[in-house]
Amino acid sequence: PSSAPKYKRVMLKISGEALMGDQGFGLHPPTVQRIAQEIKSVHDLGVEICLVIGGGNIFRGLSGSAQGMERTTADYMGMLATVMNALGMQSALEEVGVFTRVISAIRMDEVAEPYIRRRAVRHLEKQRVCIFAAGTGNPYFTTDTAATLRANEMACEAIFMGKNGVDGVYDKDPKEHADAVRYDEISYDDVLAKRLKVMDASAIALARDNNLPLIVFGLDEPGGFKGILAGEGTYTKVQ
Ligand code: UDP
Repeated sequence: PSSAPKYKRVMLKISGEALMGDQGFGLHPPTVQRIAQEIKSVHDLGVEICLVIGGGNIFRGLSGSAQGMERTTADYMGMLATVMNALGMQSALEEVGVFTRVISAIRMDEVAEPYIRRRAVRHLEKQRVCIFAAGTGNPYFTTDTAATLRANEMACEAIFMGKNGVDGVYDKDPKEHADAVRYDEISYDDVLAKRLKVMDASAIALARDNNLPLIVFGLDEPGGFKGILAGEGTYTKVQ
């Protein structure tokens, strides 16, 4: 049927800031619940879902180190922040009946499973949403790189990057320029050459070199994530 989703297994990347609502910090439970509903609606289609959530709503390594903190320690704090976000999202998803596993790149066995690739794949096959926490487990990386790495390892067909306040990739910042134009499609090479802010350069290189498409869309639009899986709505495809 034409309503069948275009993808069987996807990675959804959202920033930590997506969880904070209007609070400006931390987790805003109604916002987390709203995103959980968006994920559930796609899960209900039978799509296997990987999820990576950033940590910027709680702590960013770069801002810590800019204020004099040792960089690697600050980055570990950022990674721990992503674990808190993962647990918050796990709770919201299970509340609406979606089974999940939080899988951490840093061992903390009382809180999350350790990352074992084949085990994670099995969870996906059993329709469990895998929430990959603690980034890559390494300082000097971002959760964009973690999302790209896990998407490759899990053989996802695409990365879906849910953005707040913007529905794709524009030639210039649409919040500052009324005449900014959204790309329907753009290559990774052009994203790099034009220095468009989509993902950091190491994540883009990892996606490009493994032919992993990236779909940038607006997370604020209710039903938006599900719509795109059915081929509707506005977004930018980077490949
Ligand atoms: N981080 C890290 N290694 C990783 C992923 C994340 O060191 O593999 C740290 C880094 O300090 C980063 C913080 O965790 O600033 C939060 O992640 P990110 O900034 O990607 O979150 P987002 O901007 O998506 O909310």
